[in-house]
Amino acid sequence: MGIFKGKWLALAACAVLLATGLAARAEDAAQALPKKYIIVASHPLAVEAGLKELRRGGTAVDAAIAAQMVMGLVEPQSSGIGGGAFLMHWDPKTGHVESYDGRETAPMVVKPNLFLKPDGKPMPFLEAVFGGRSVGVPGVIAMLWMAHREHGNRPWAELFDDAIRLAEDGFPVSNRMAAAIARDPGLPLIPDSAAYFLPDGKPPAAGTMLKNPAYAATLRLIAAHGPDGFYRGEIAEAIVHAVQNAPRGPQSLTLSDLSHYRALKRTPVCGTYRTYRICGMGPPSSGGITTLQILGEIEHKDVTEIAPNSLRAVHLFAEAQRLAFADRAAFEGDSDFVRVPVKGLIDQRYLTKRGALIGFDAALSADMVLPGKPAGGDLMLRRLRVPDHSKPSTAHLSVIDGAGRAVAMTTSVEGPFGSHLMAAGFILNNQLTDFSFEPAFDNRRLANAPQGGKRPLSSMSPTLVFGAKGKLYAVIGSPGGWRIIPYVTQTLIGLIDWHMDMATAIALPHVTSRSATVEIEAGKGLEALTSELKALGHDVSPQAMDSGLNGIRVRDDGYEGAADARREGGVGGD
Ligand code: GLU
Repeated sequence: MGIFKGKWLALAACAVLLATGLAARAEDAAQALPKKYIIVASHPLAVEAGLKELRRGGTAVDAAIAAQMVMGLVEPQSSGIGGGAFLMHWDPKTGHVESYDGRETAPMVVKPNLFLKPDGKPMPFLEAVFGGRSVGVPGVIAMLWMAHREHGNRPWAELFDDAIRLAEDGFPVSNRMAAAIARDPGLPLIPDSAAYFLPDGKPPAAGTMLKNPAYAATLRLIAAHGPDGFYRGEIAEAIVHAVQNAPRGPQSLTLSDLSHYRALKRTPVCGTYRTYRICGMGPPSSGGITTLQILGEIEHKDVTEIAPNSLRAVHLFAEAQRLAFADRAAFEGDSDFVRVPVKGLIDQRYLTKRGALIGFDAALSADMVLPGKPAGGDLMLRRLRVPDHSKPSTAHLSVIDGAGRAVAMTTSVEGPFGSHLMAAGFILNNQLTDFSFEPAFDNRRLANAPQGGKRPLSSMSPTLVFGAKGKLYAVIGSPGGWRIIPYVTQTLIGLIDWHMDMATAIALPHVTSRSATVEIEAGKGLEALTSELKALGHDVSPQAMDSGLNGIRVRDDGYEGAADARREGGVGGD
């Protein structure tokens, strides 16, 4: 089948593919589904790199590594080796689902007041983002190394070849990357980053060939030395130098912070929805828990009988989100630092009770959308305020290899271009701004308060779905900040309740909510429901939504892959 964008090759995608030198023919789309292996990733060049590994007999993890190294080059606004990631893995031979945590950690110097101004008030968001203060110790390399040792097949060093070649020979700046650079207020503030992203002081036009020899040199070191090539020696020194000498918000991230970084195996969070088993990422991500909570709250409603995009569907989905996000804010954080009542939060009886709060005649009033009382929940952790920042960054990839092993990996430098600092050819994340800026509420420490060594709470939701007899049914995930959770959950509802194919489920107009405001995806027809939603008591806000749902559905006749048309991802397989 080769490589093409989305499920059906769009004309716009041809431009991307042709610009990247890949042949793409419209009739590809009509060909049979891939049967051997498949990758869906956020950029055609990353798809190509991953597909090459799959064709060489590489595993899903091998393909994910090769794709990630390219993504850090061609989509640096979204993810890279200076960021963090979560990876879910399934092996049909053992039947084991495993989850890997490559989330950034706060340098040991970090105190709960990290993002407070001298007057005790939280700083403006972008002031916190740009520069050294927001940088966590990157986790991508340590996590991928760990996953590769357990599930890799191809030699580690060779997985970097494509990215090194593209960094040295040059790659075409995509439409999305060009637009991200052109609208970014932070790049001009950081001279090293401006030198790379704004050659001659101007944003590059789409299609401009860009080279990144510093990134190629960095990848050669990591290829040769593994994580030691990143967490020790000259790359580590470059990271420390960039953060400690940042033109804004310099921070004491140290060599010791880097050498002590550890990727972690976490217990996956699994639950059932109707006849399916759904496994996602546990703390420090809220993705797995919150997805299962929303589904658990609607499970006793007859969703199959509710038409997609109808008033009832939008209302029900929004209300379930509000309840789940109230729990998220109250109880979730890094479980190595705070007790997260995972079992209690996804307990089916608890969720049935929560779901029973939802009625179809009126929206819940704000004072009814409070955290619940899950078993083991410590209300001292109650947190009522949640920041709201839209982030057209982060990326997701889904892979199934020749032996049926699956990877769902969501990977991020947090906001577009992370902290905007660069070291050794790559962007350093701003993941620490995922901590709550206010460390306490009513003098009580919040679950997601900043602290040295702690991992900020994430929404990333790489997800594996299993059907009858534990057979893999779907692999899915998305970028989108906190909206990742509704994006992924809605896709699951589309697949499971509405029996949609992957592309149709991904294309569903989005509905997101964690307050009295229901956000509807603008221009997709949902505006017609505004007056009825208002009559139920909702505020309604149409918005552009920048999901990047990249998923695979397993069918009897092959693998059905789809990349979200809202971004520039693609599908490749044989
Ligand atoms: N930093 C976010 C998180 O971990 C992801 C940001 C995004 O999706 O754009 O939840």
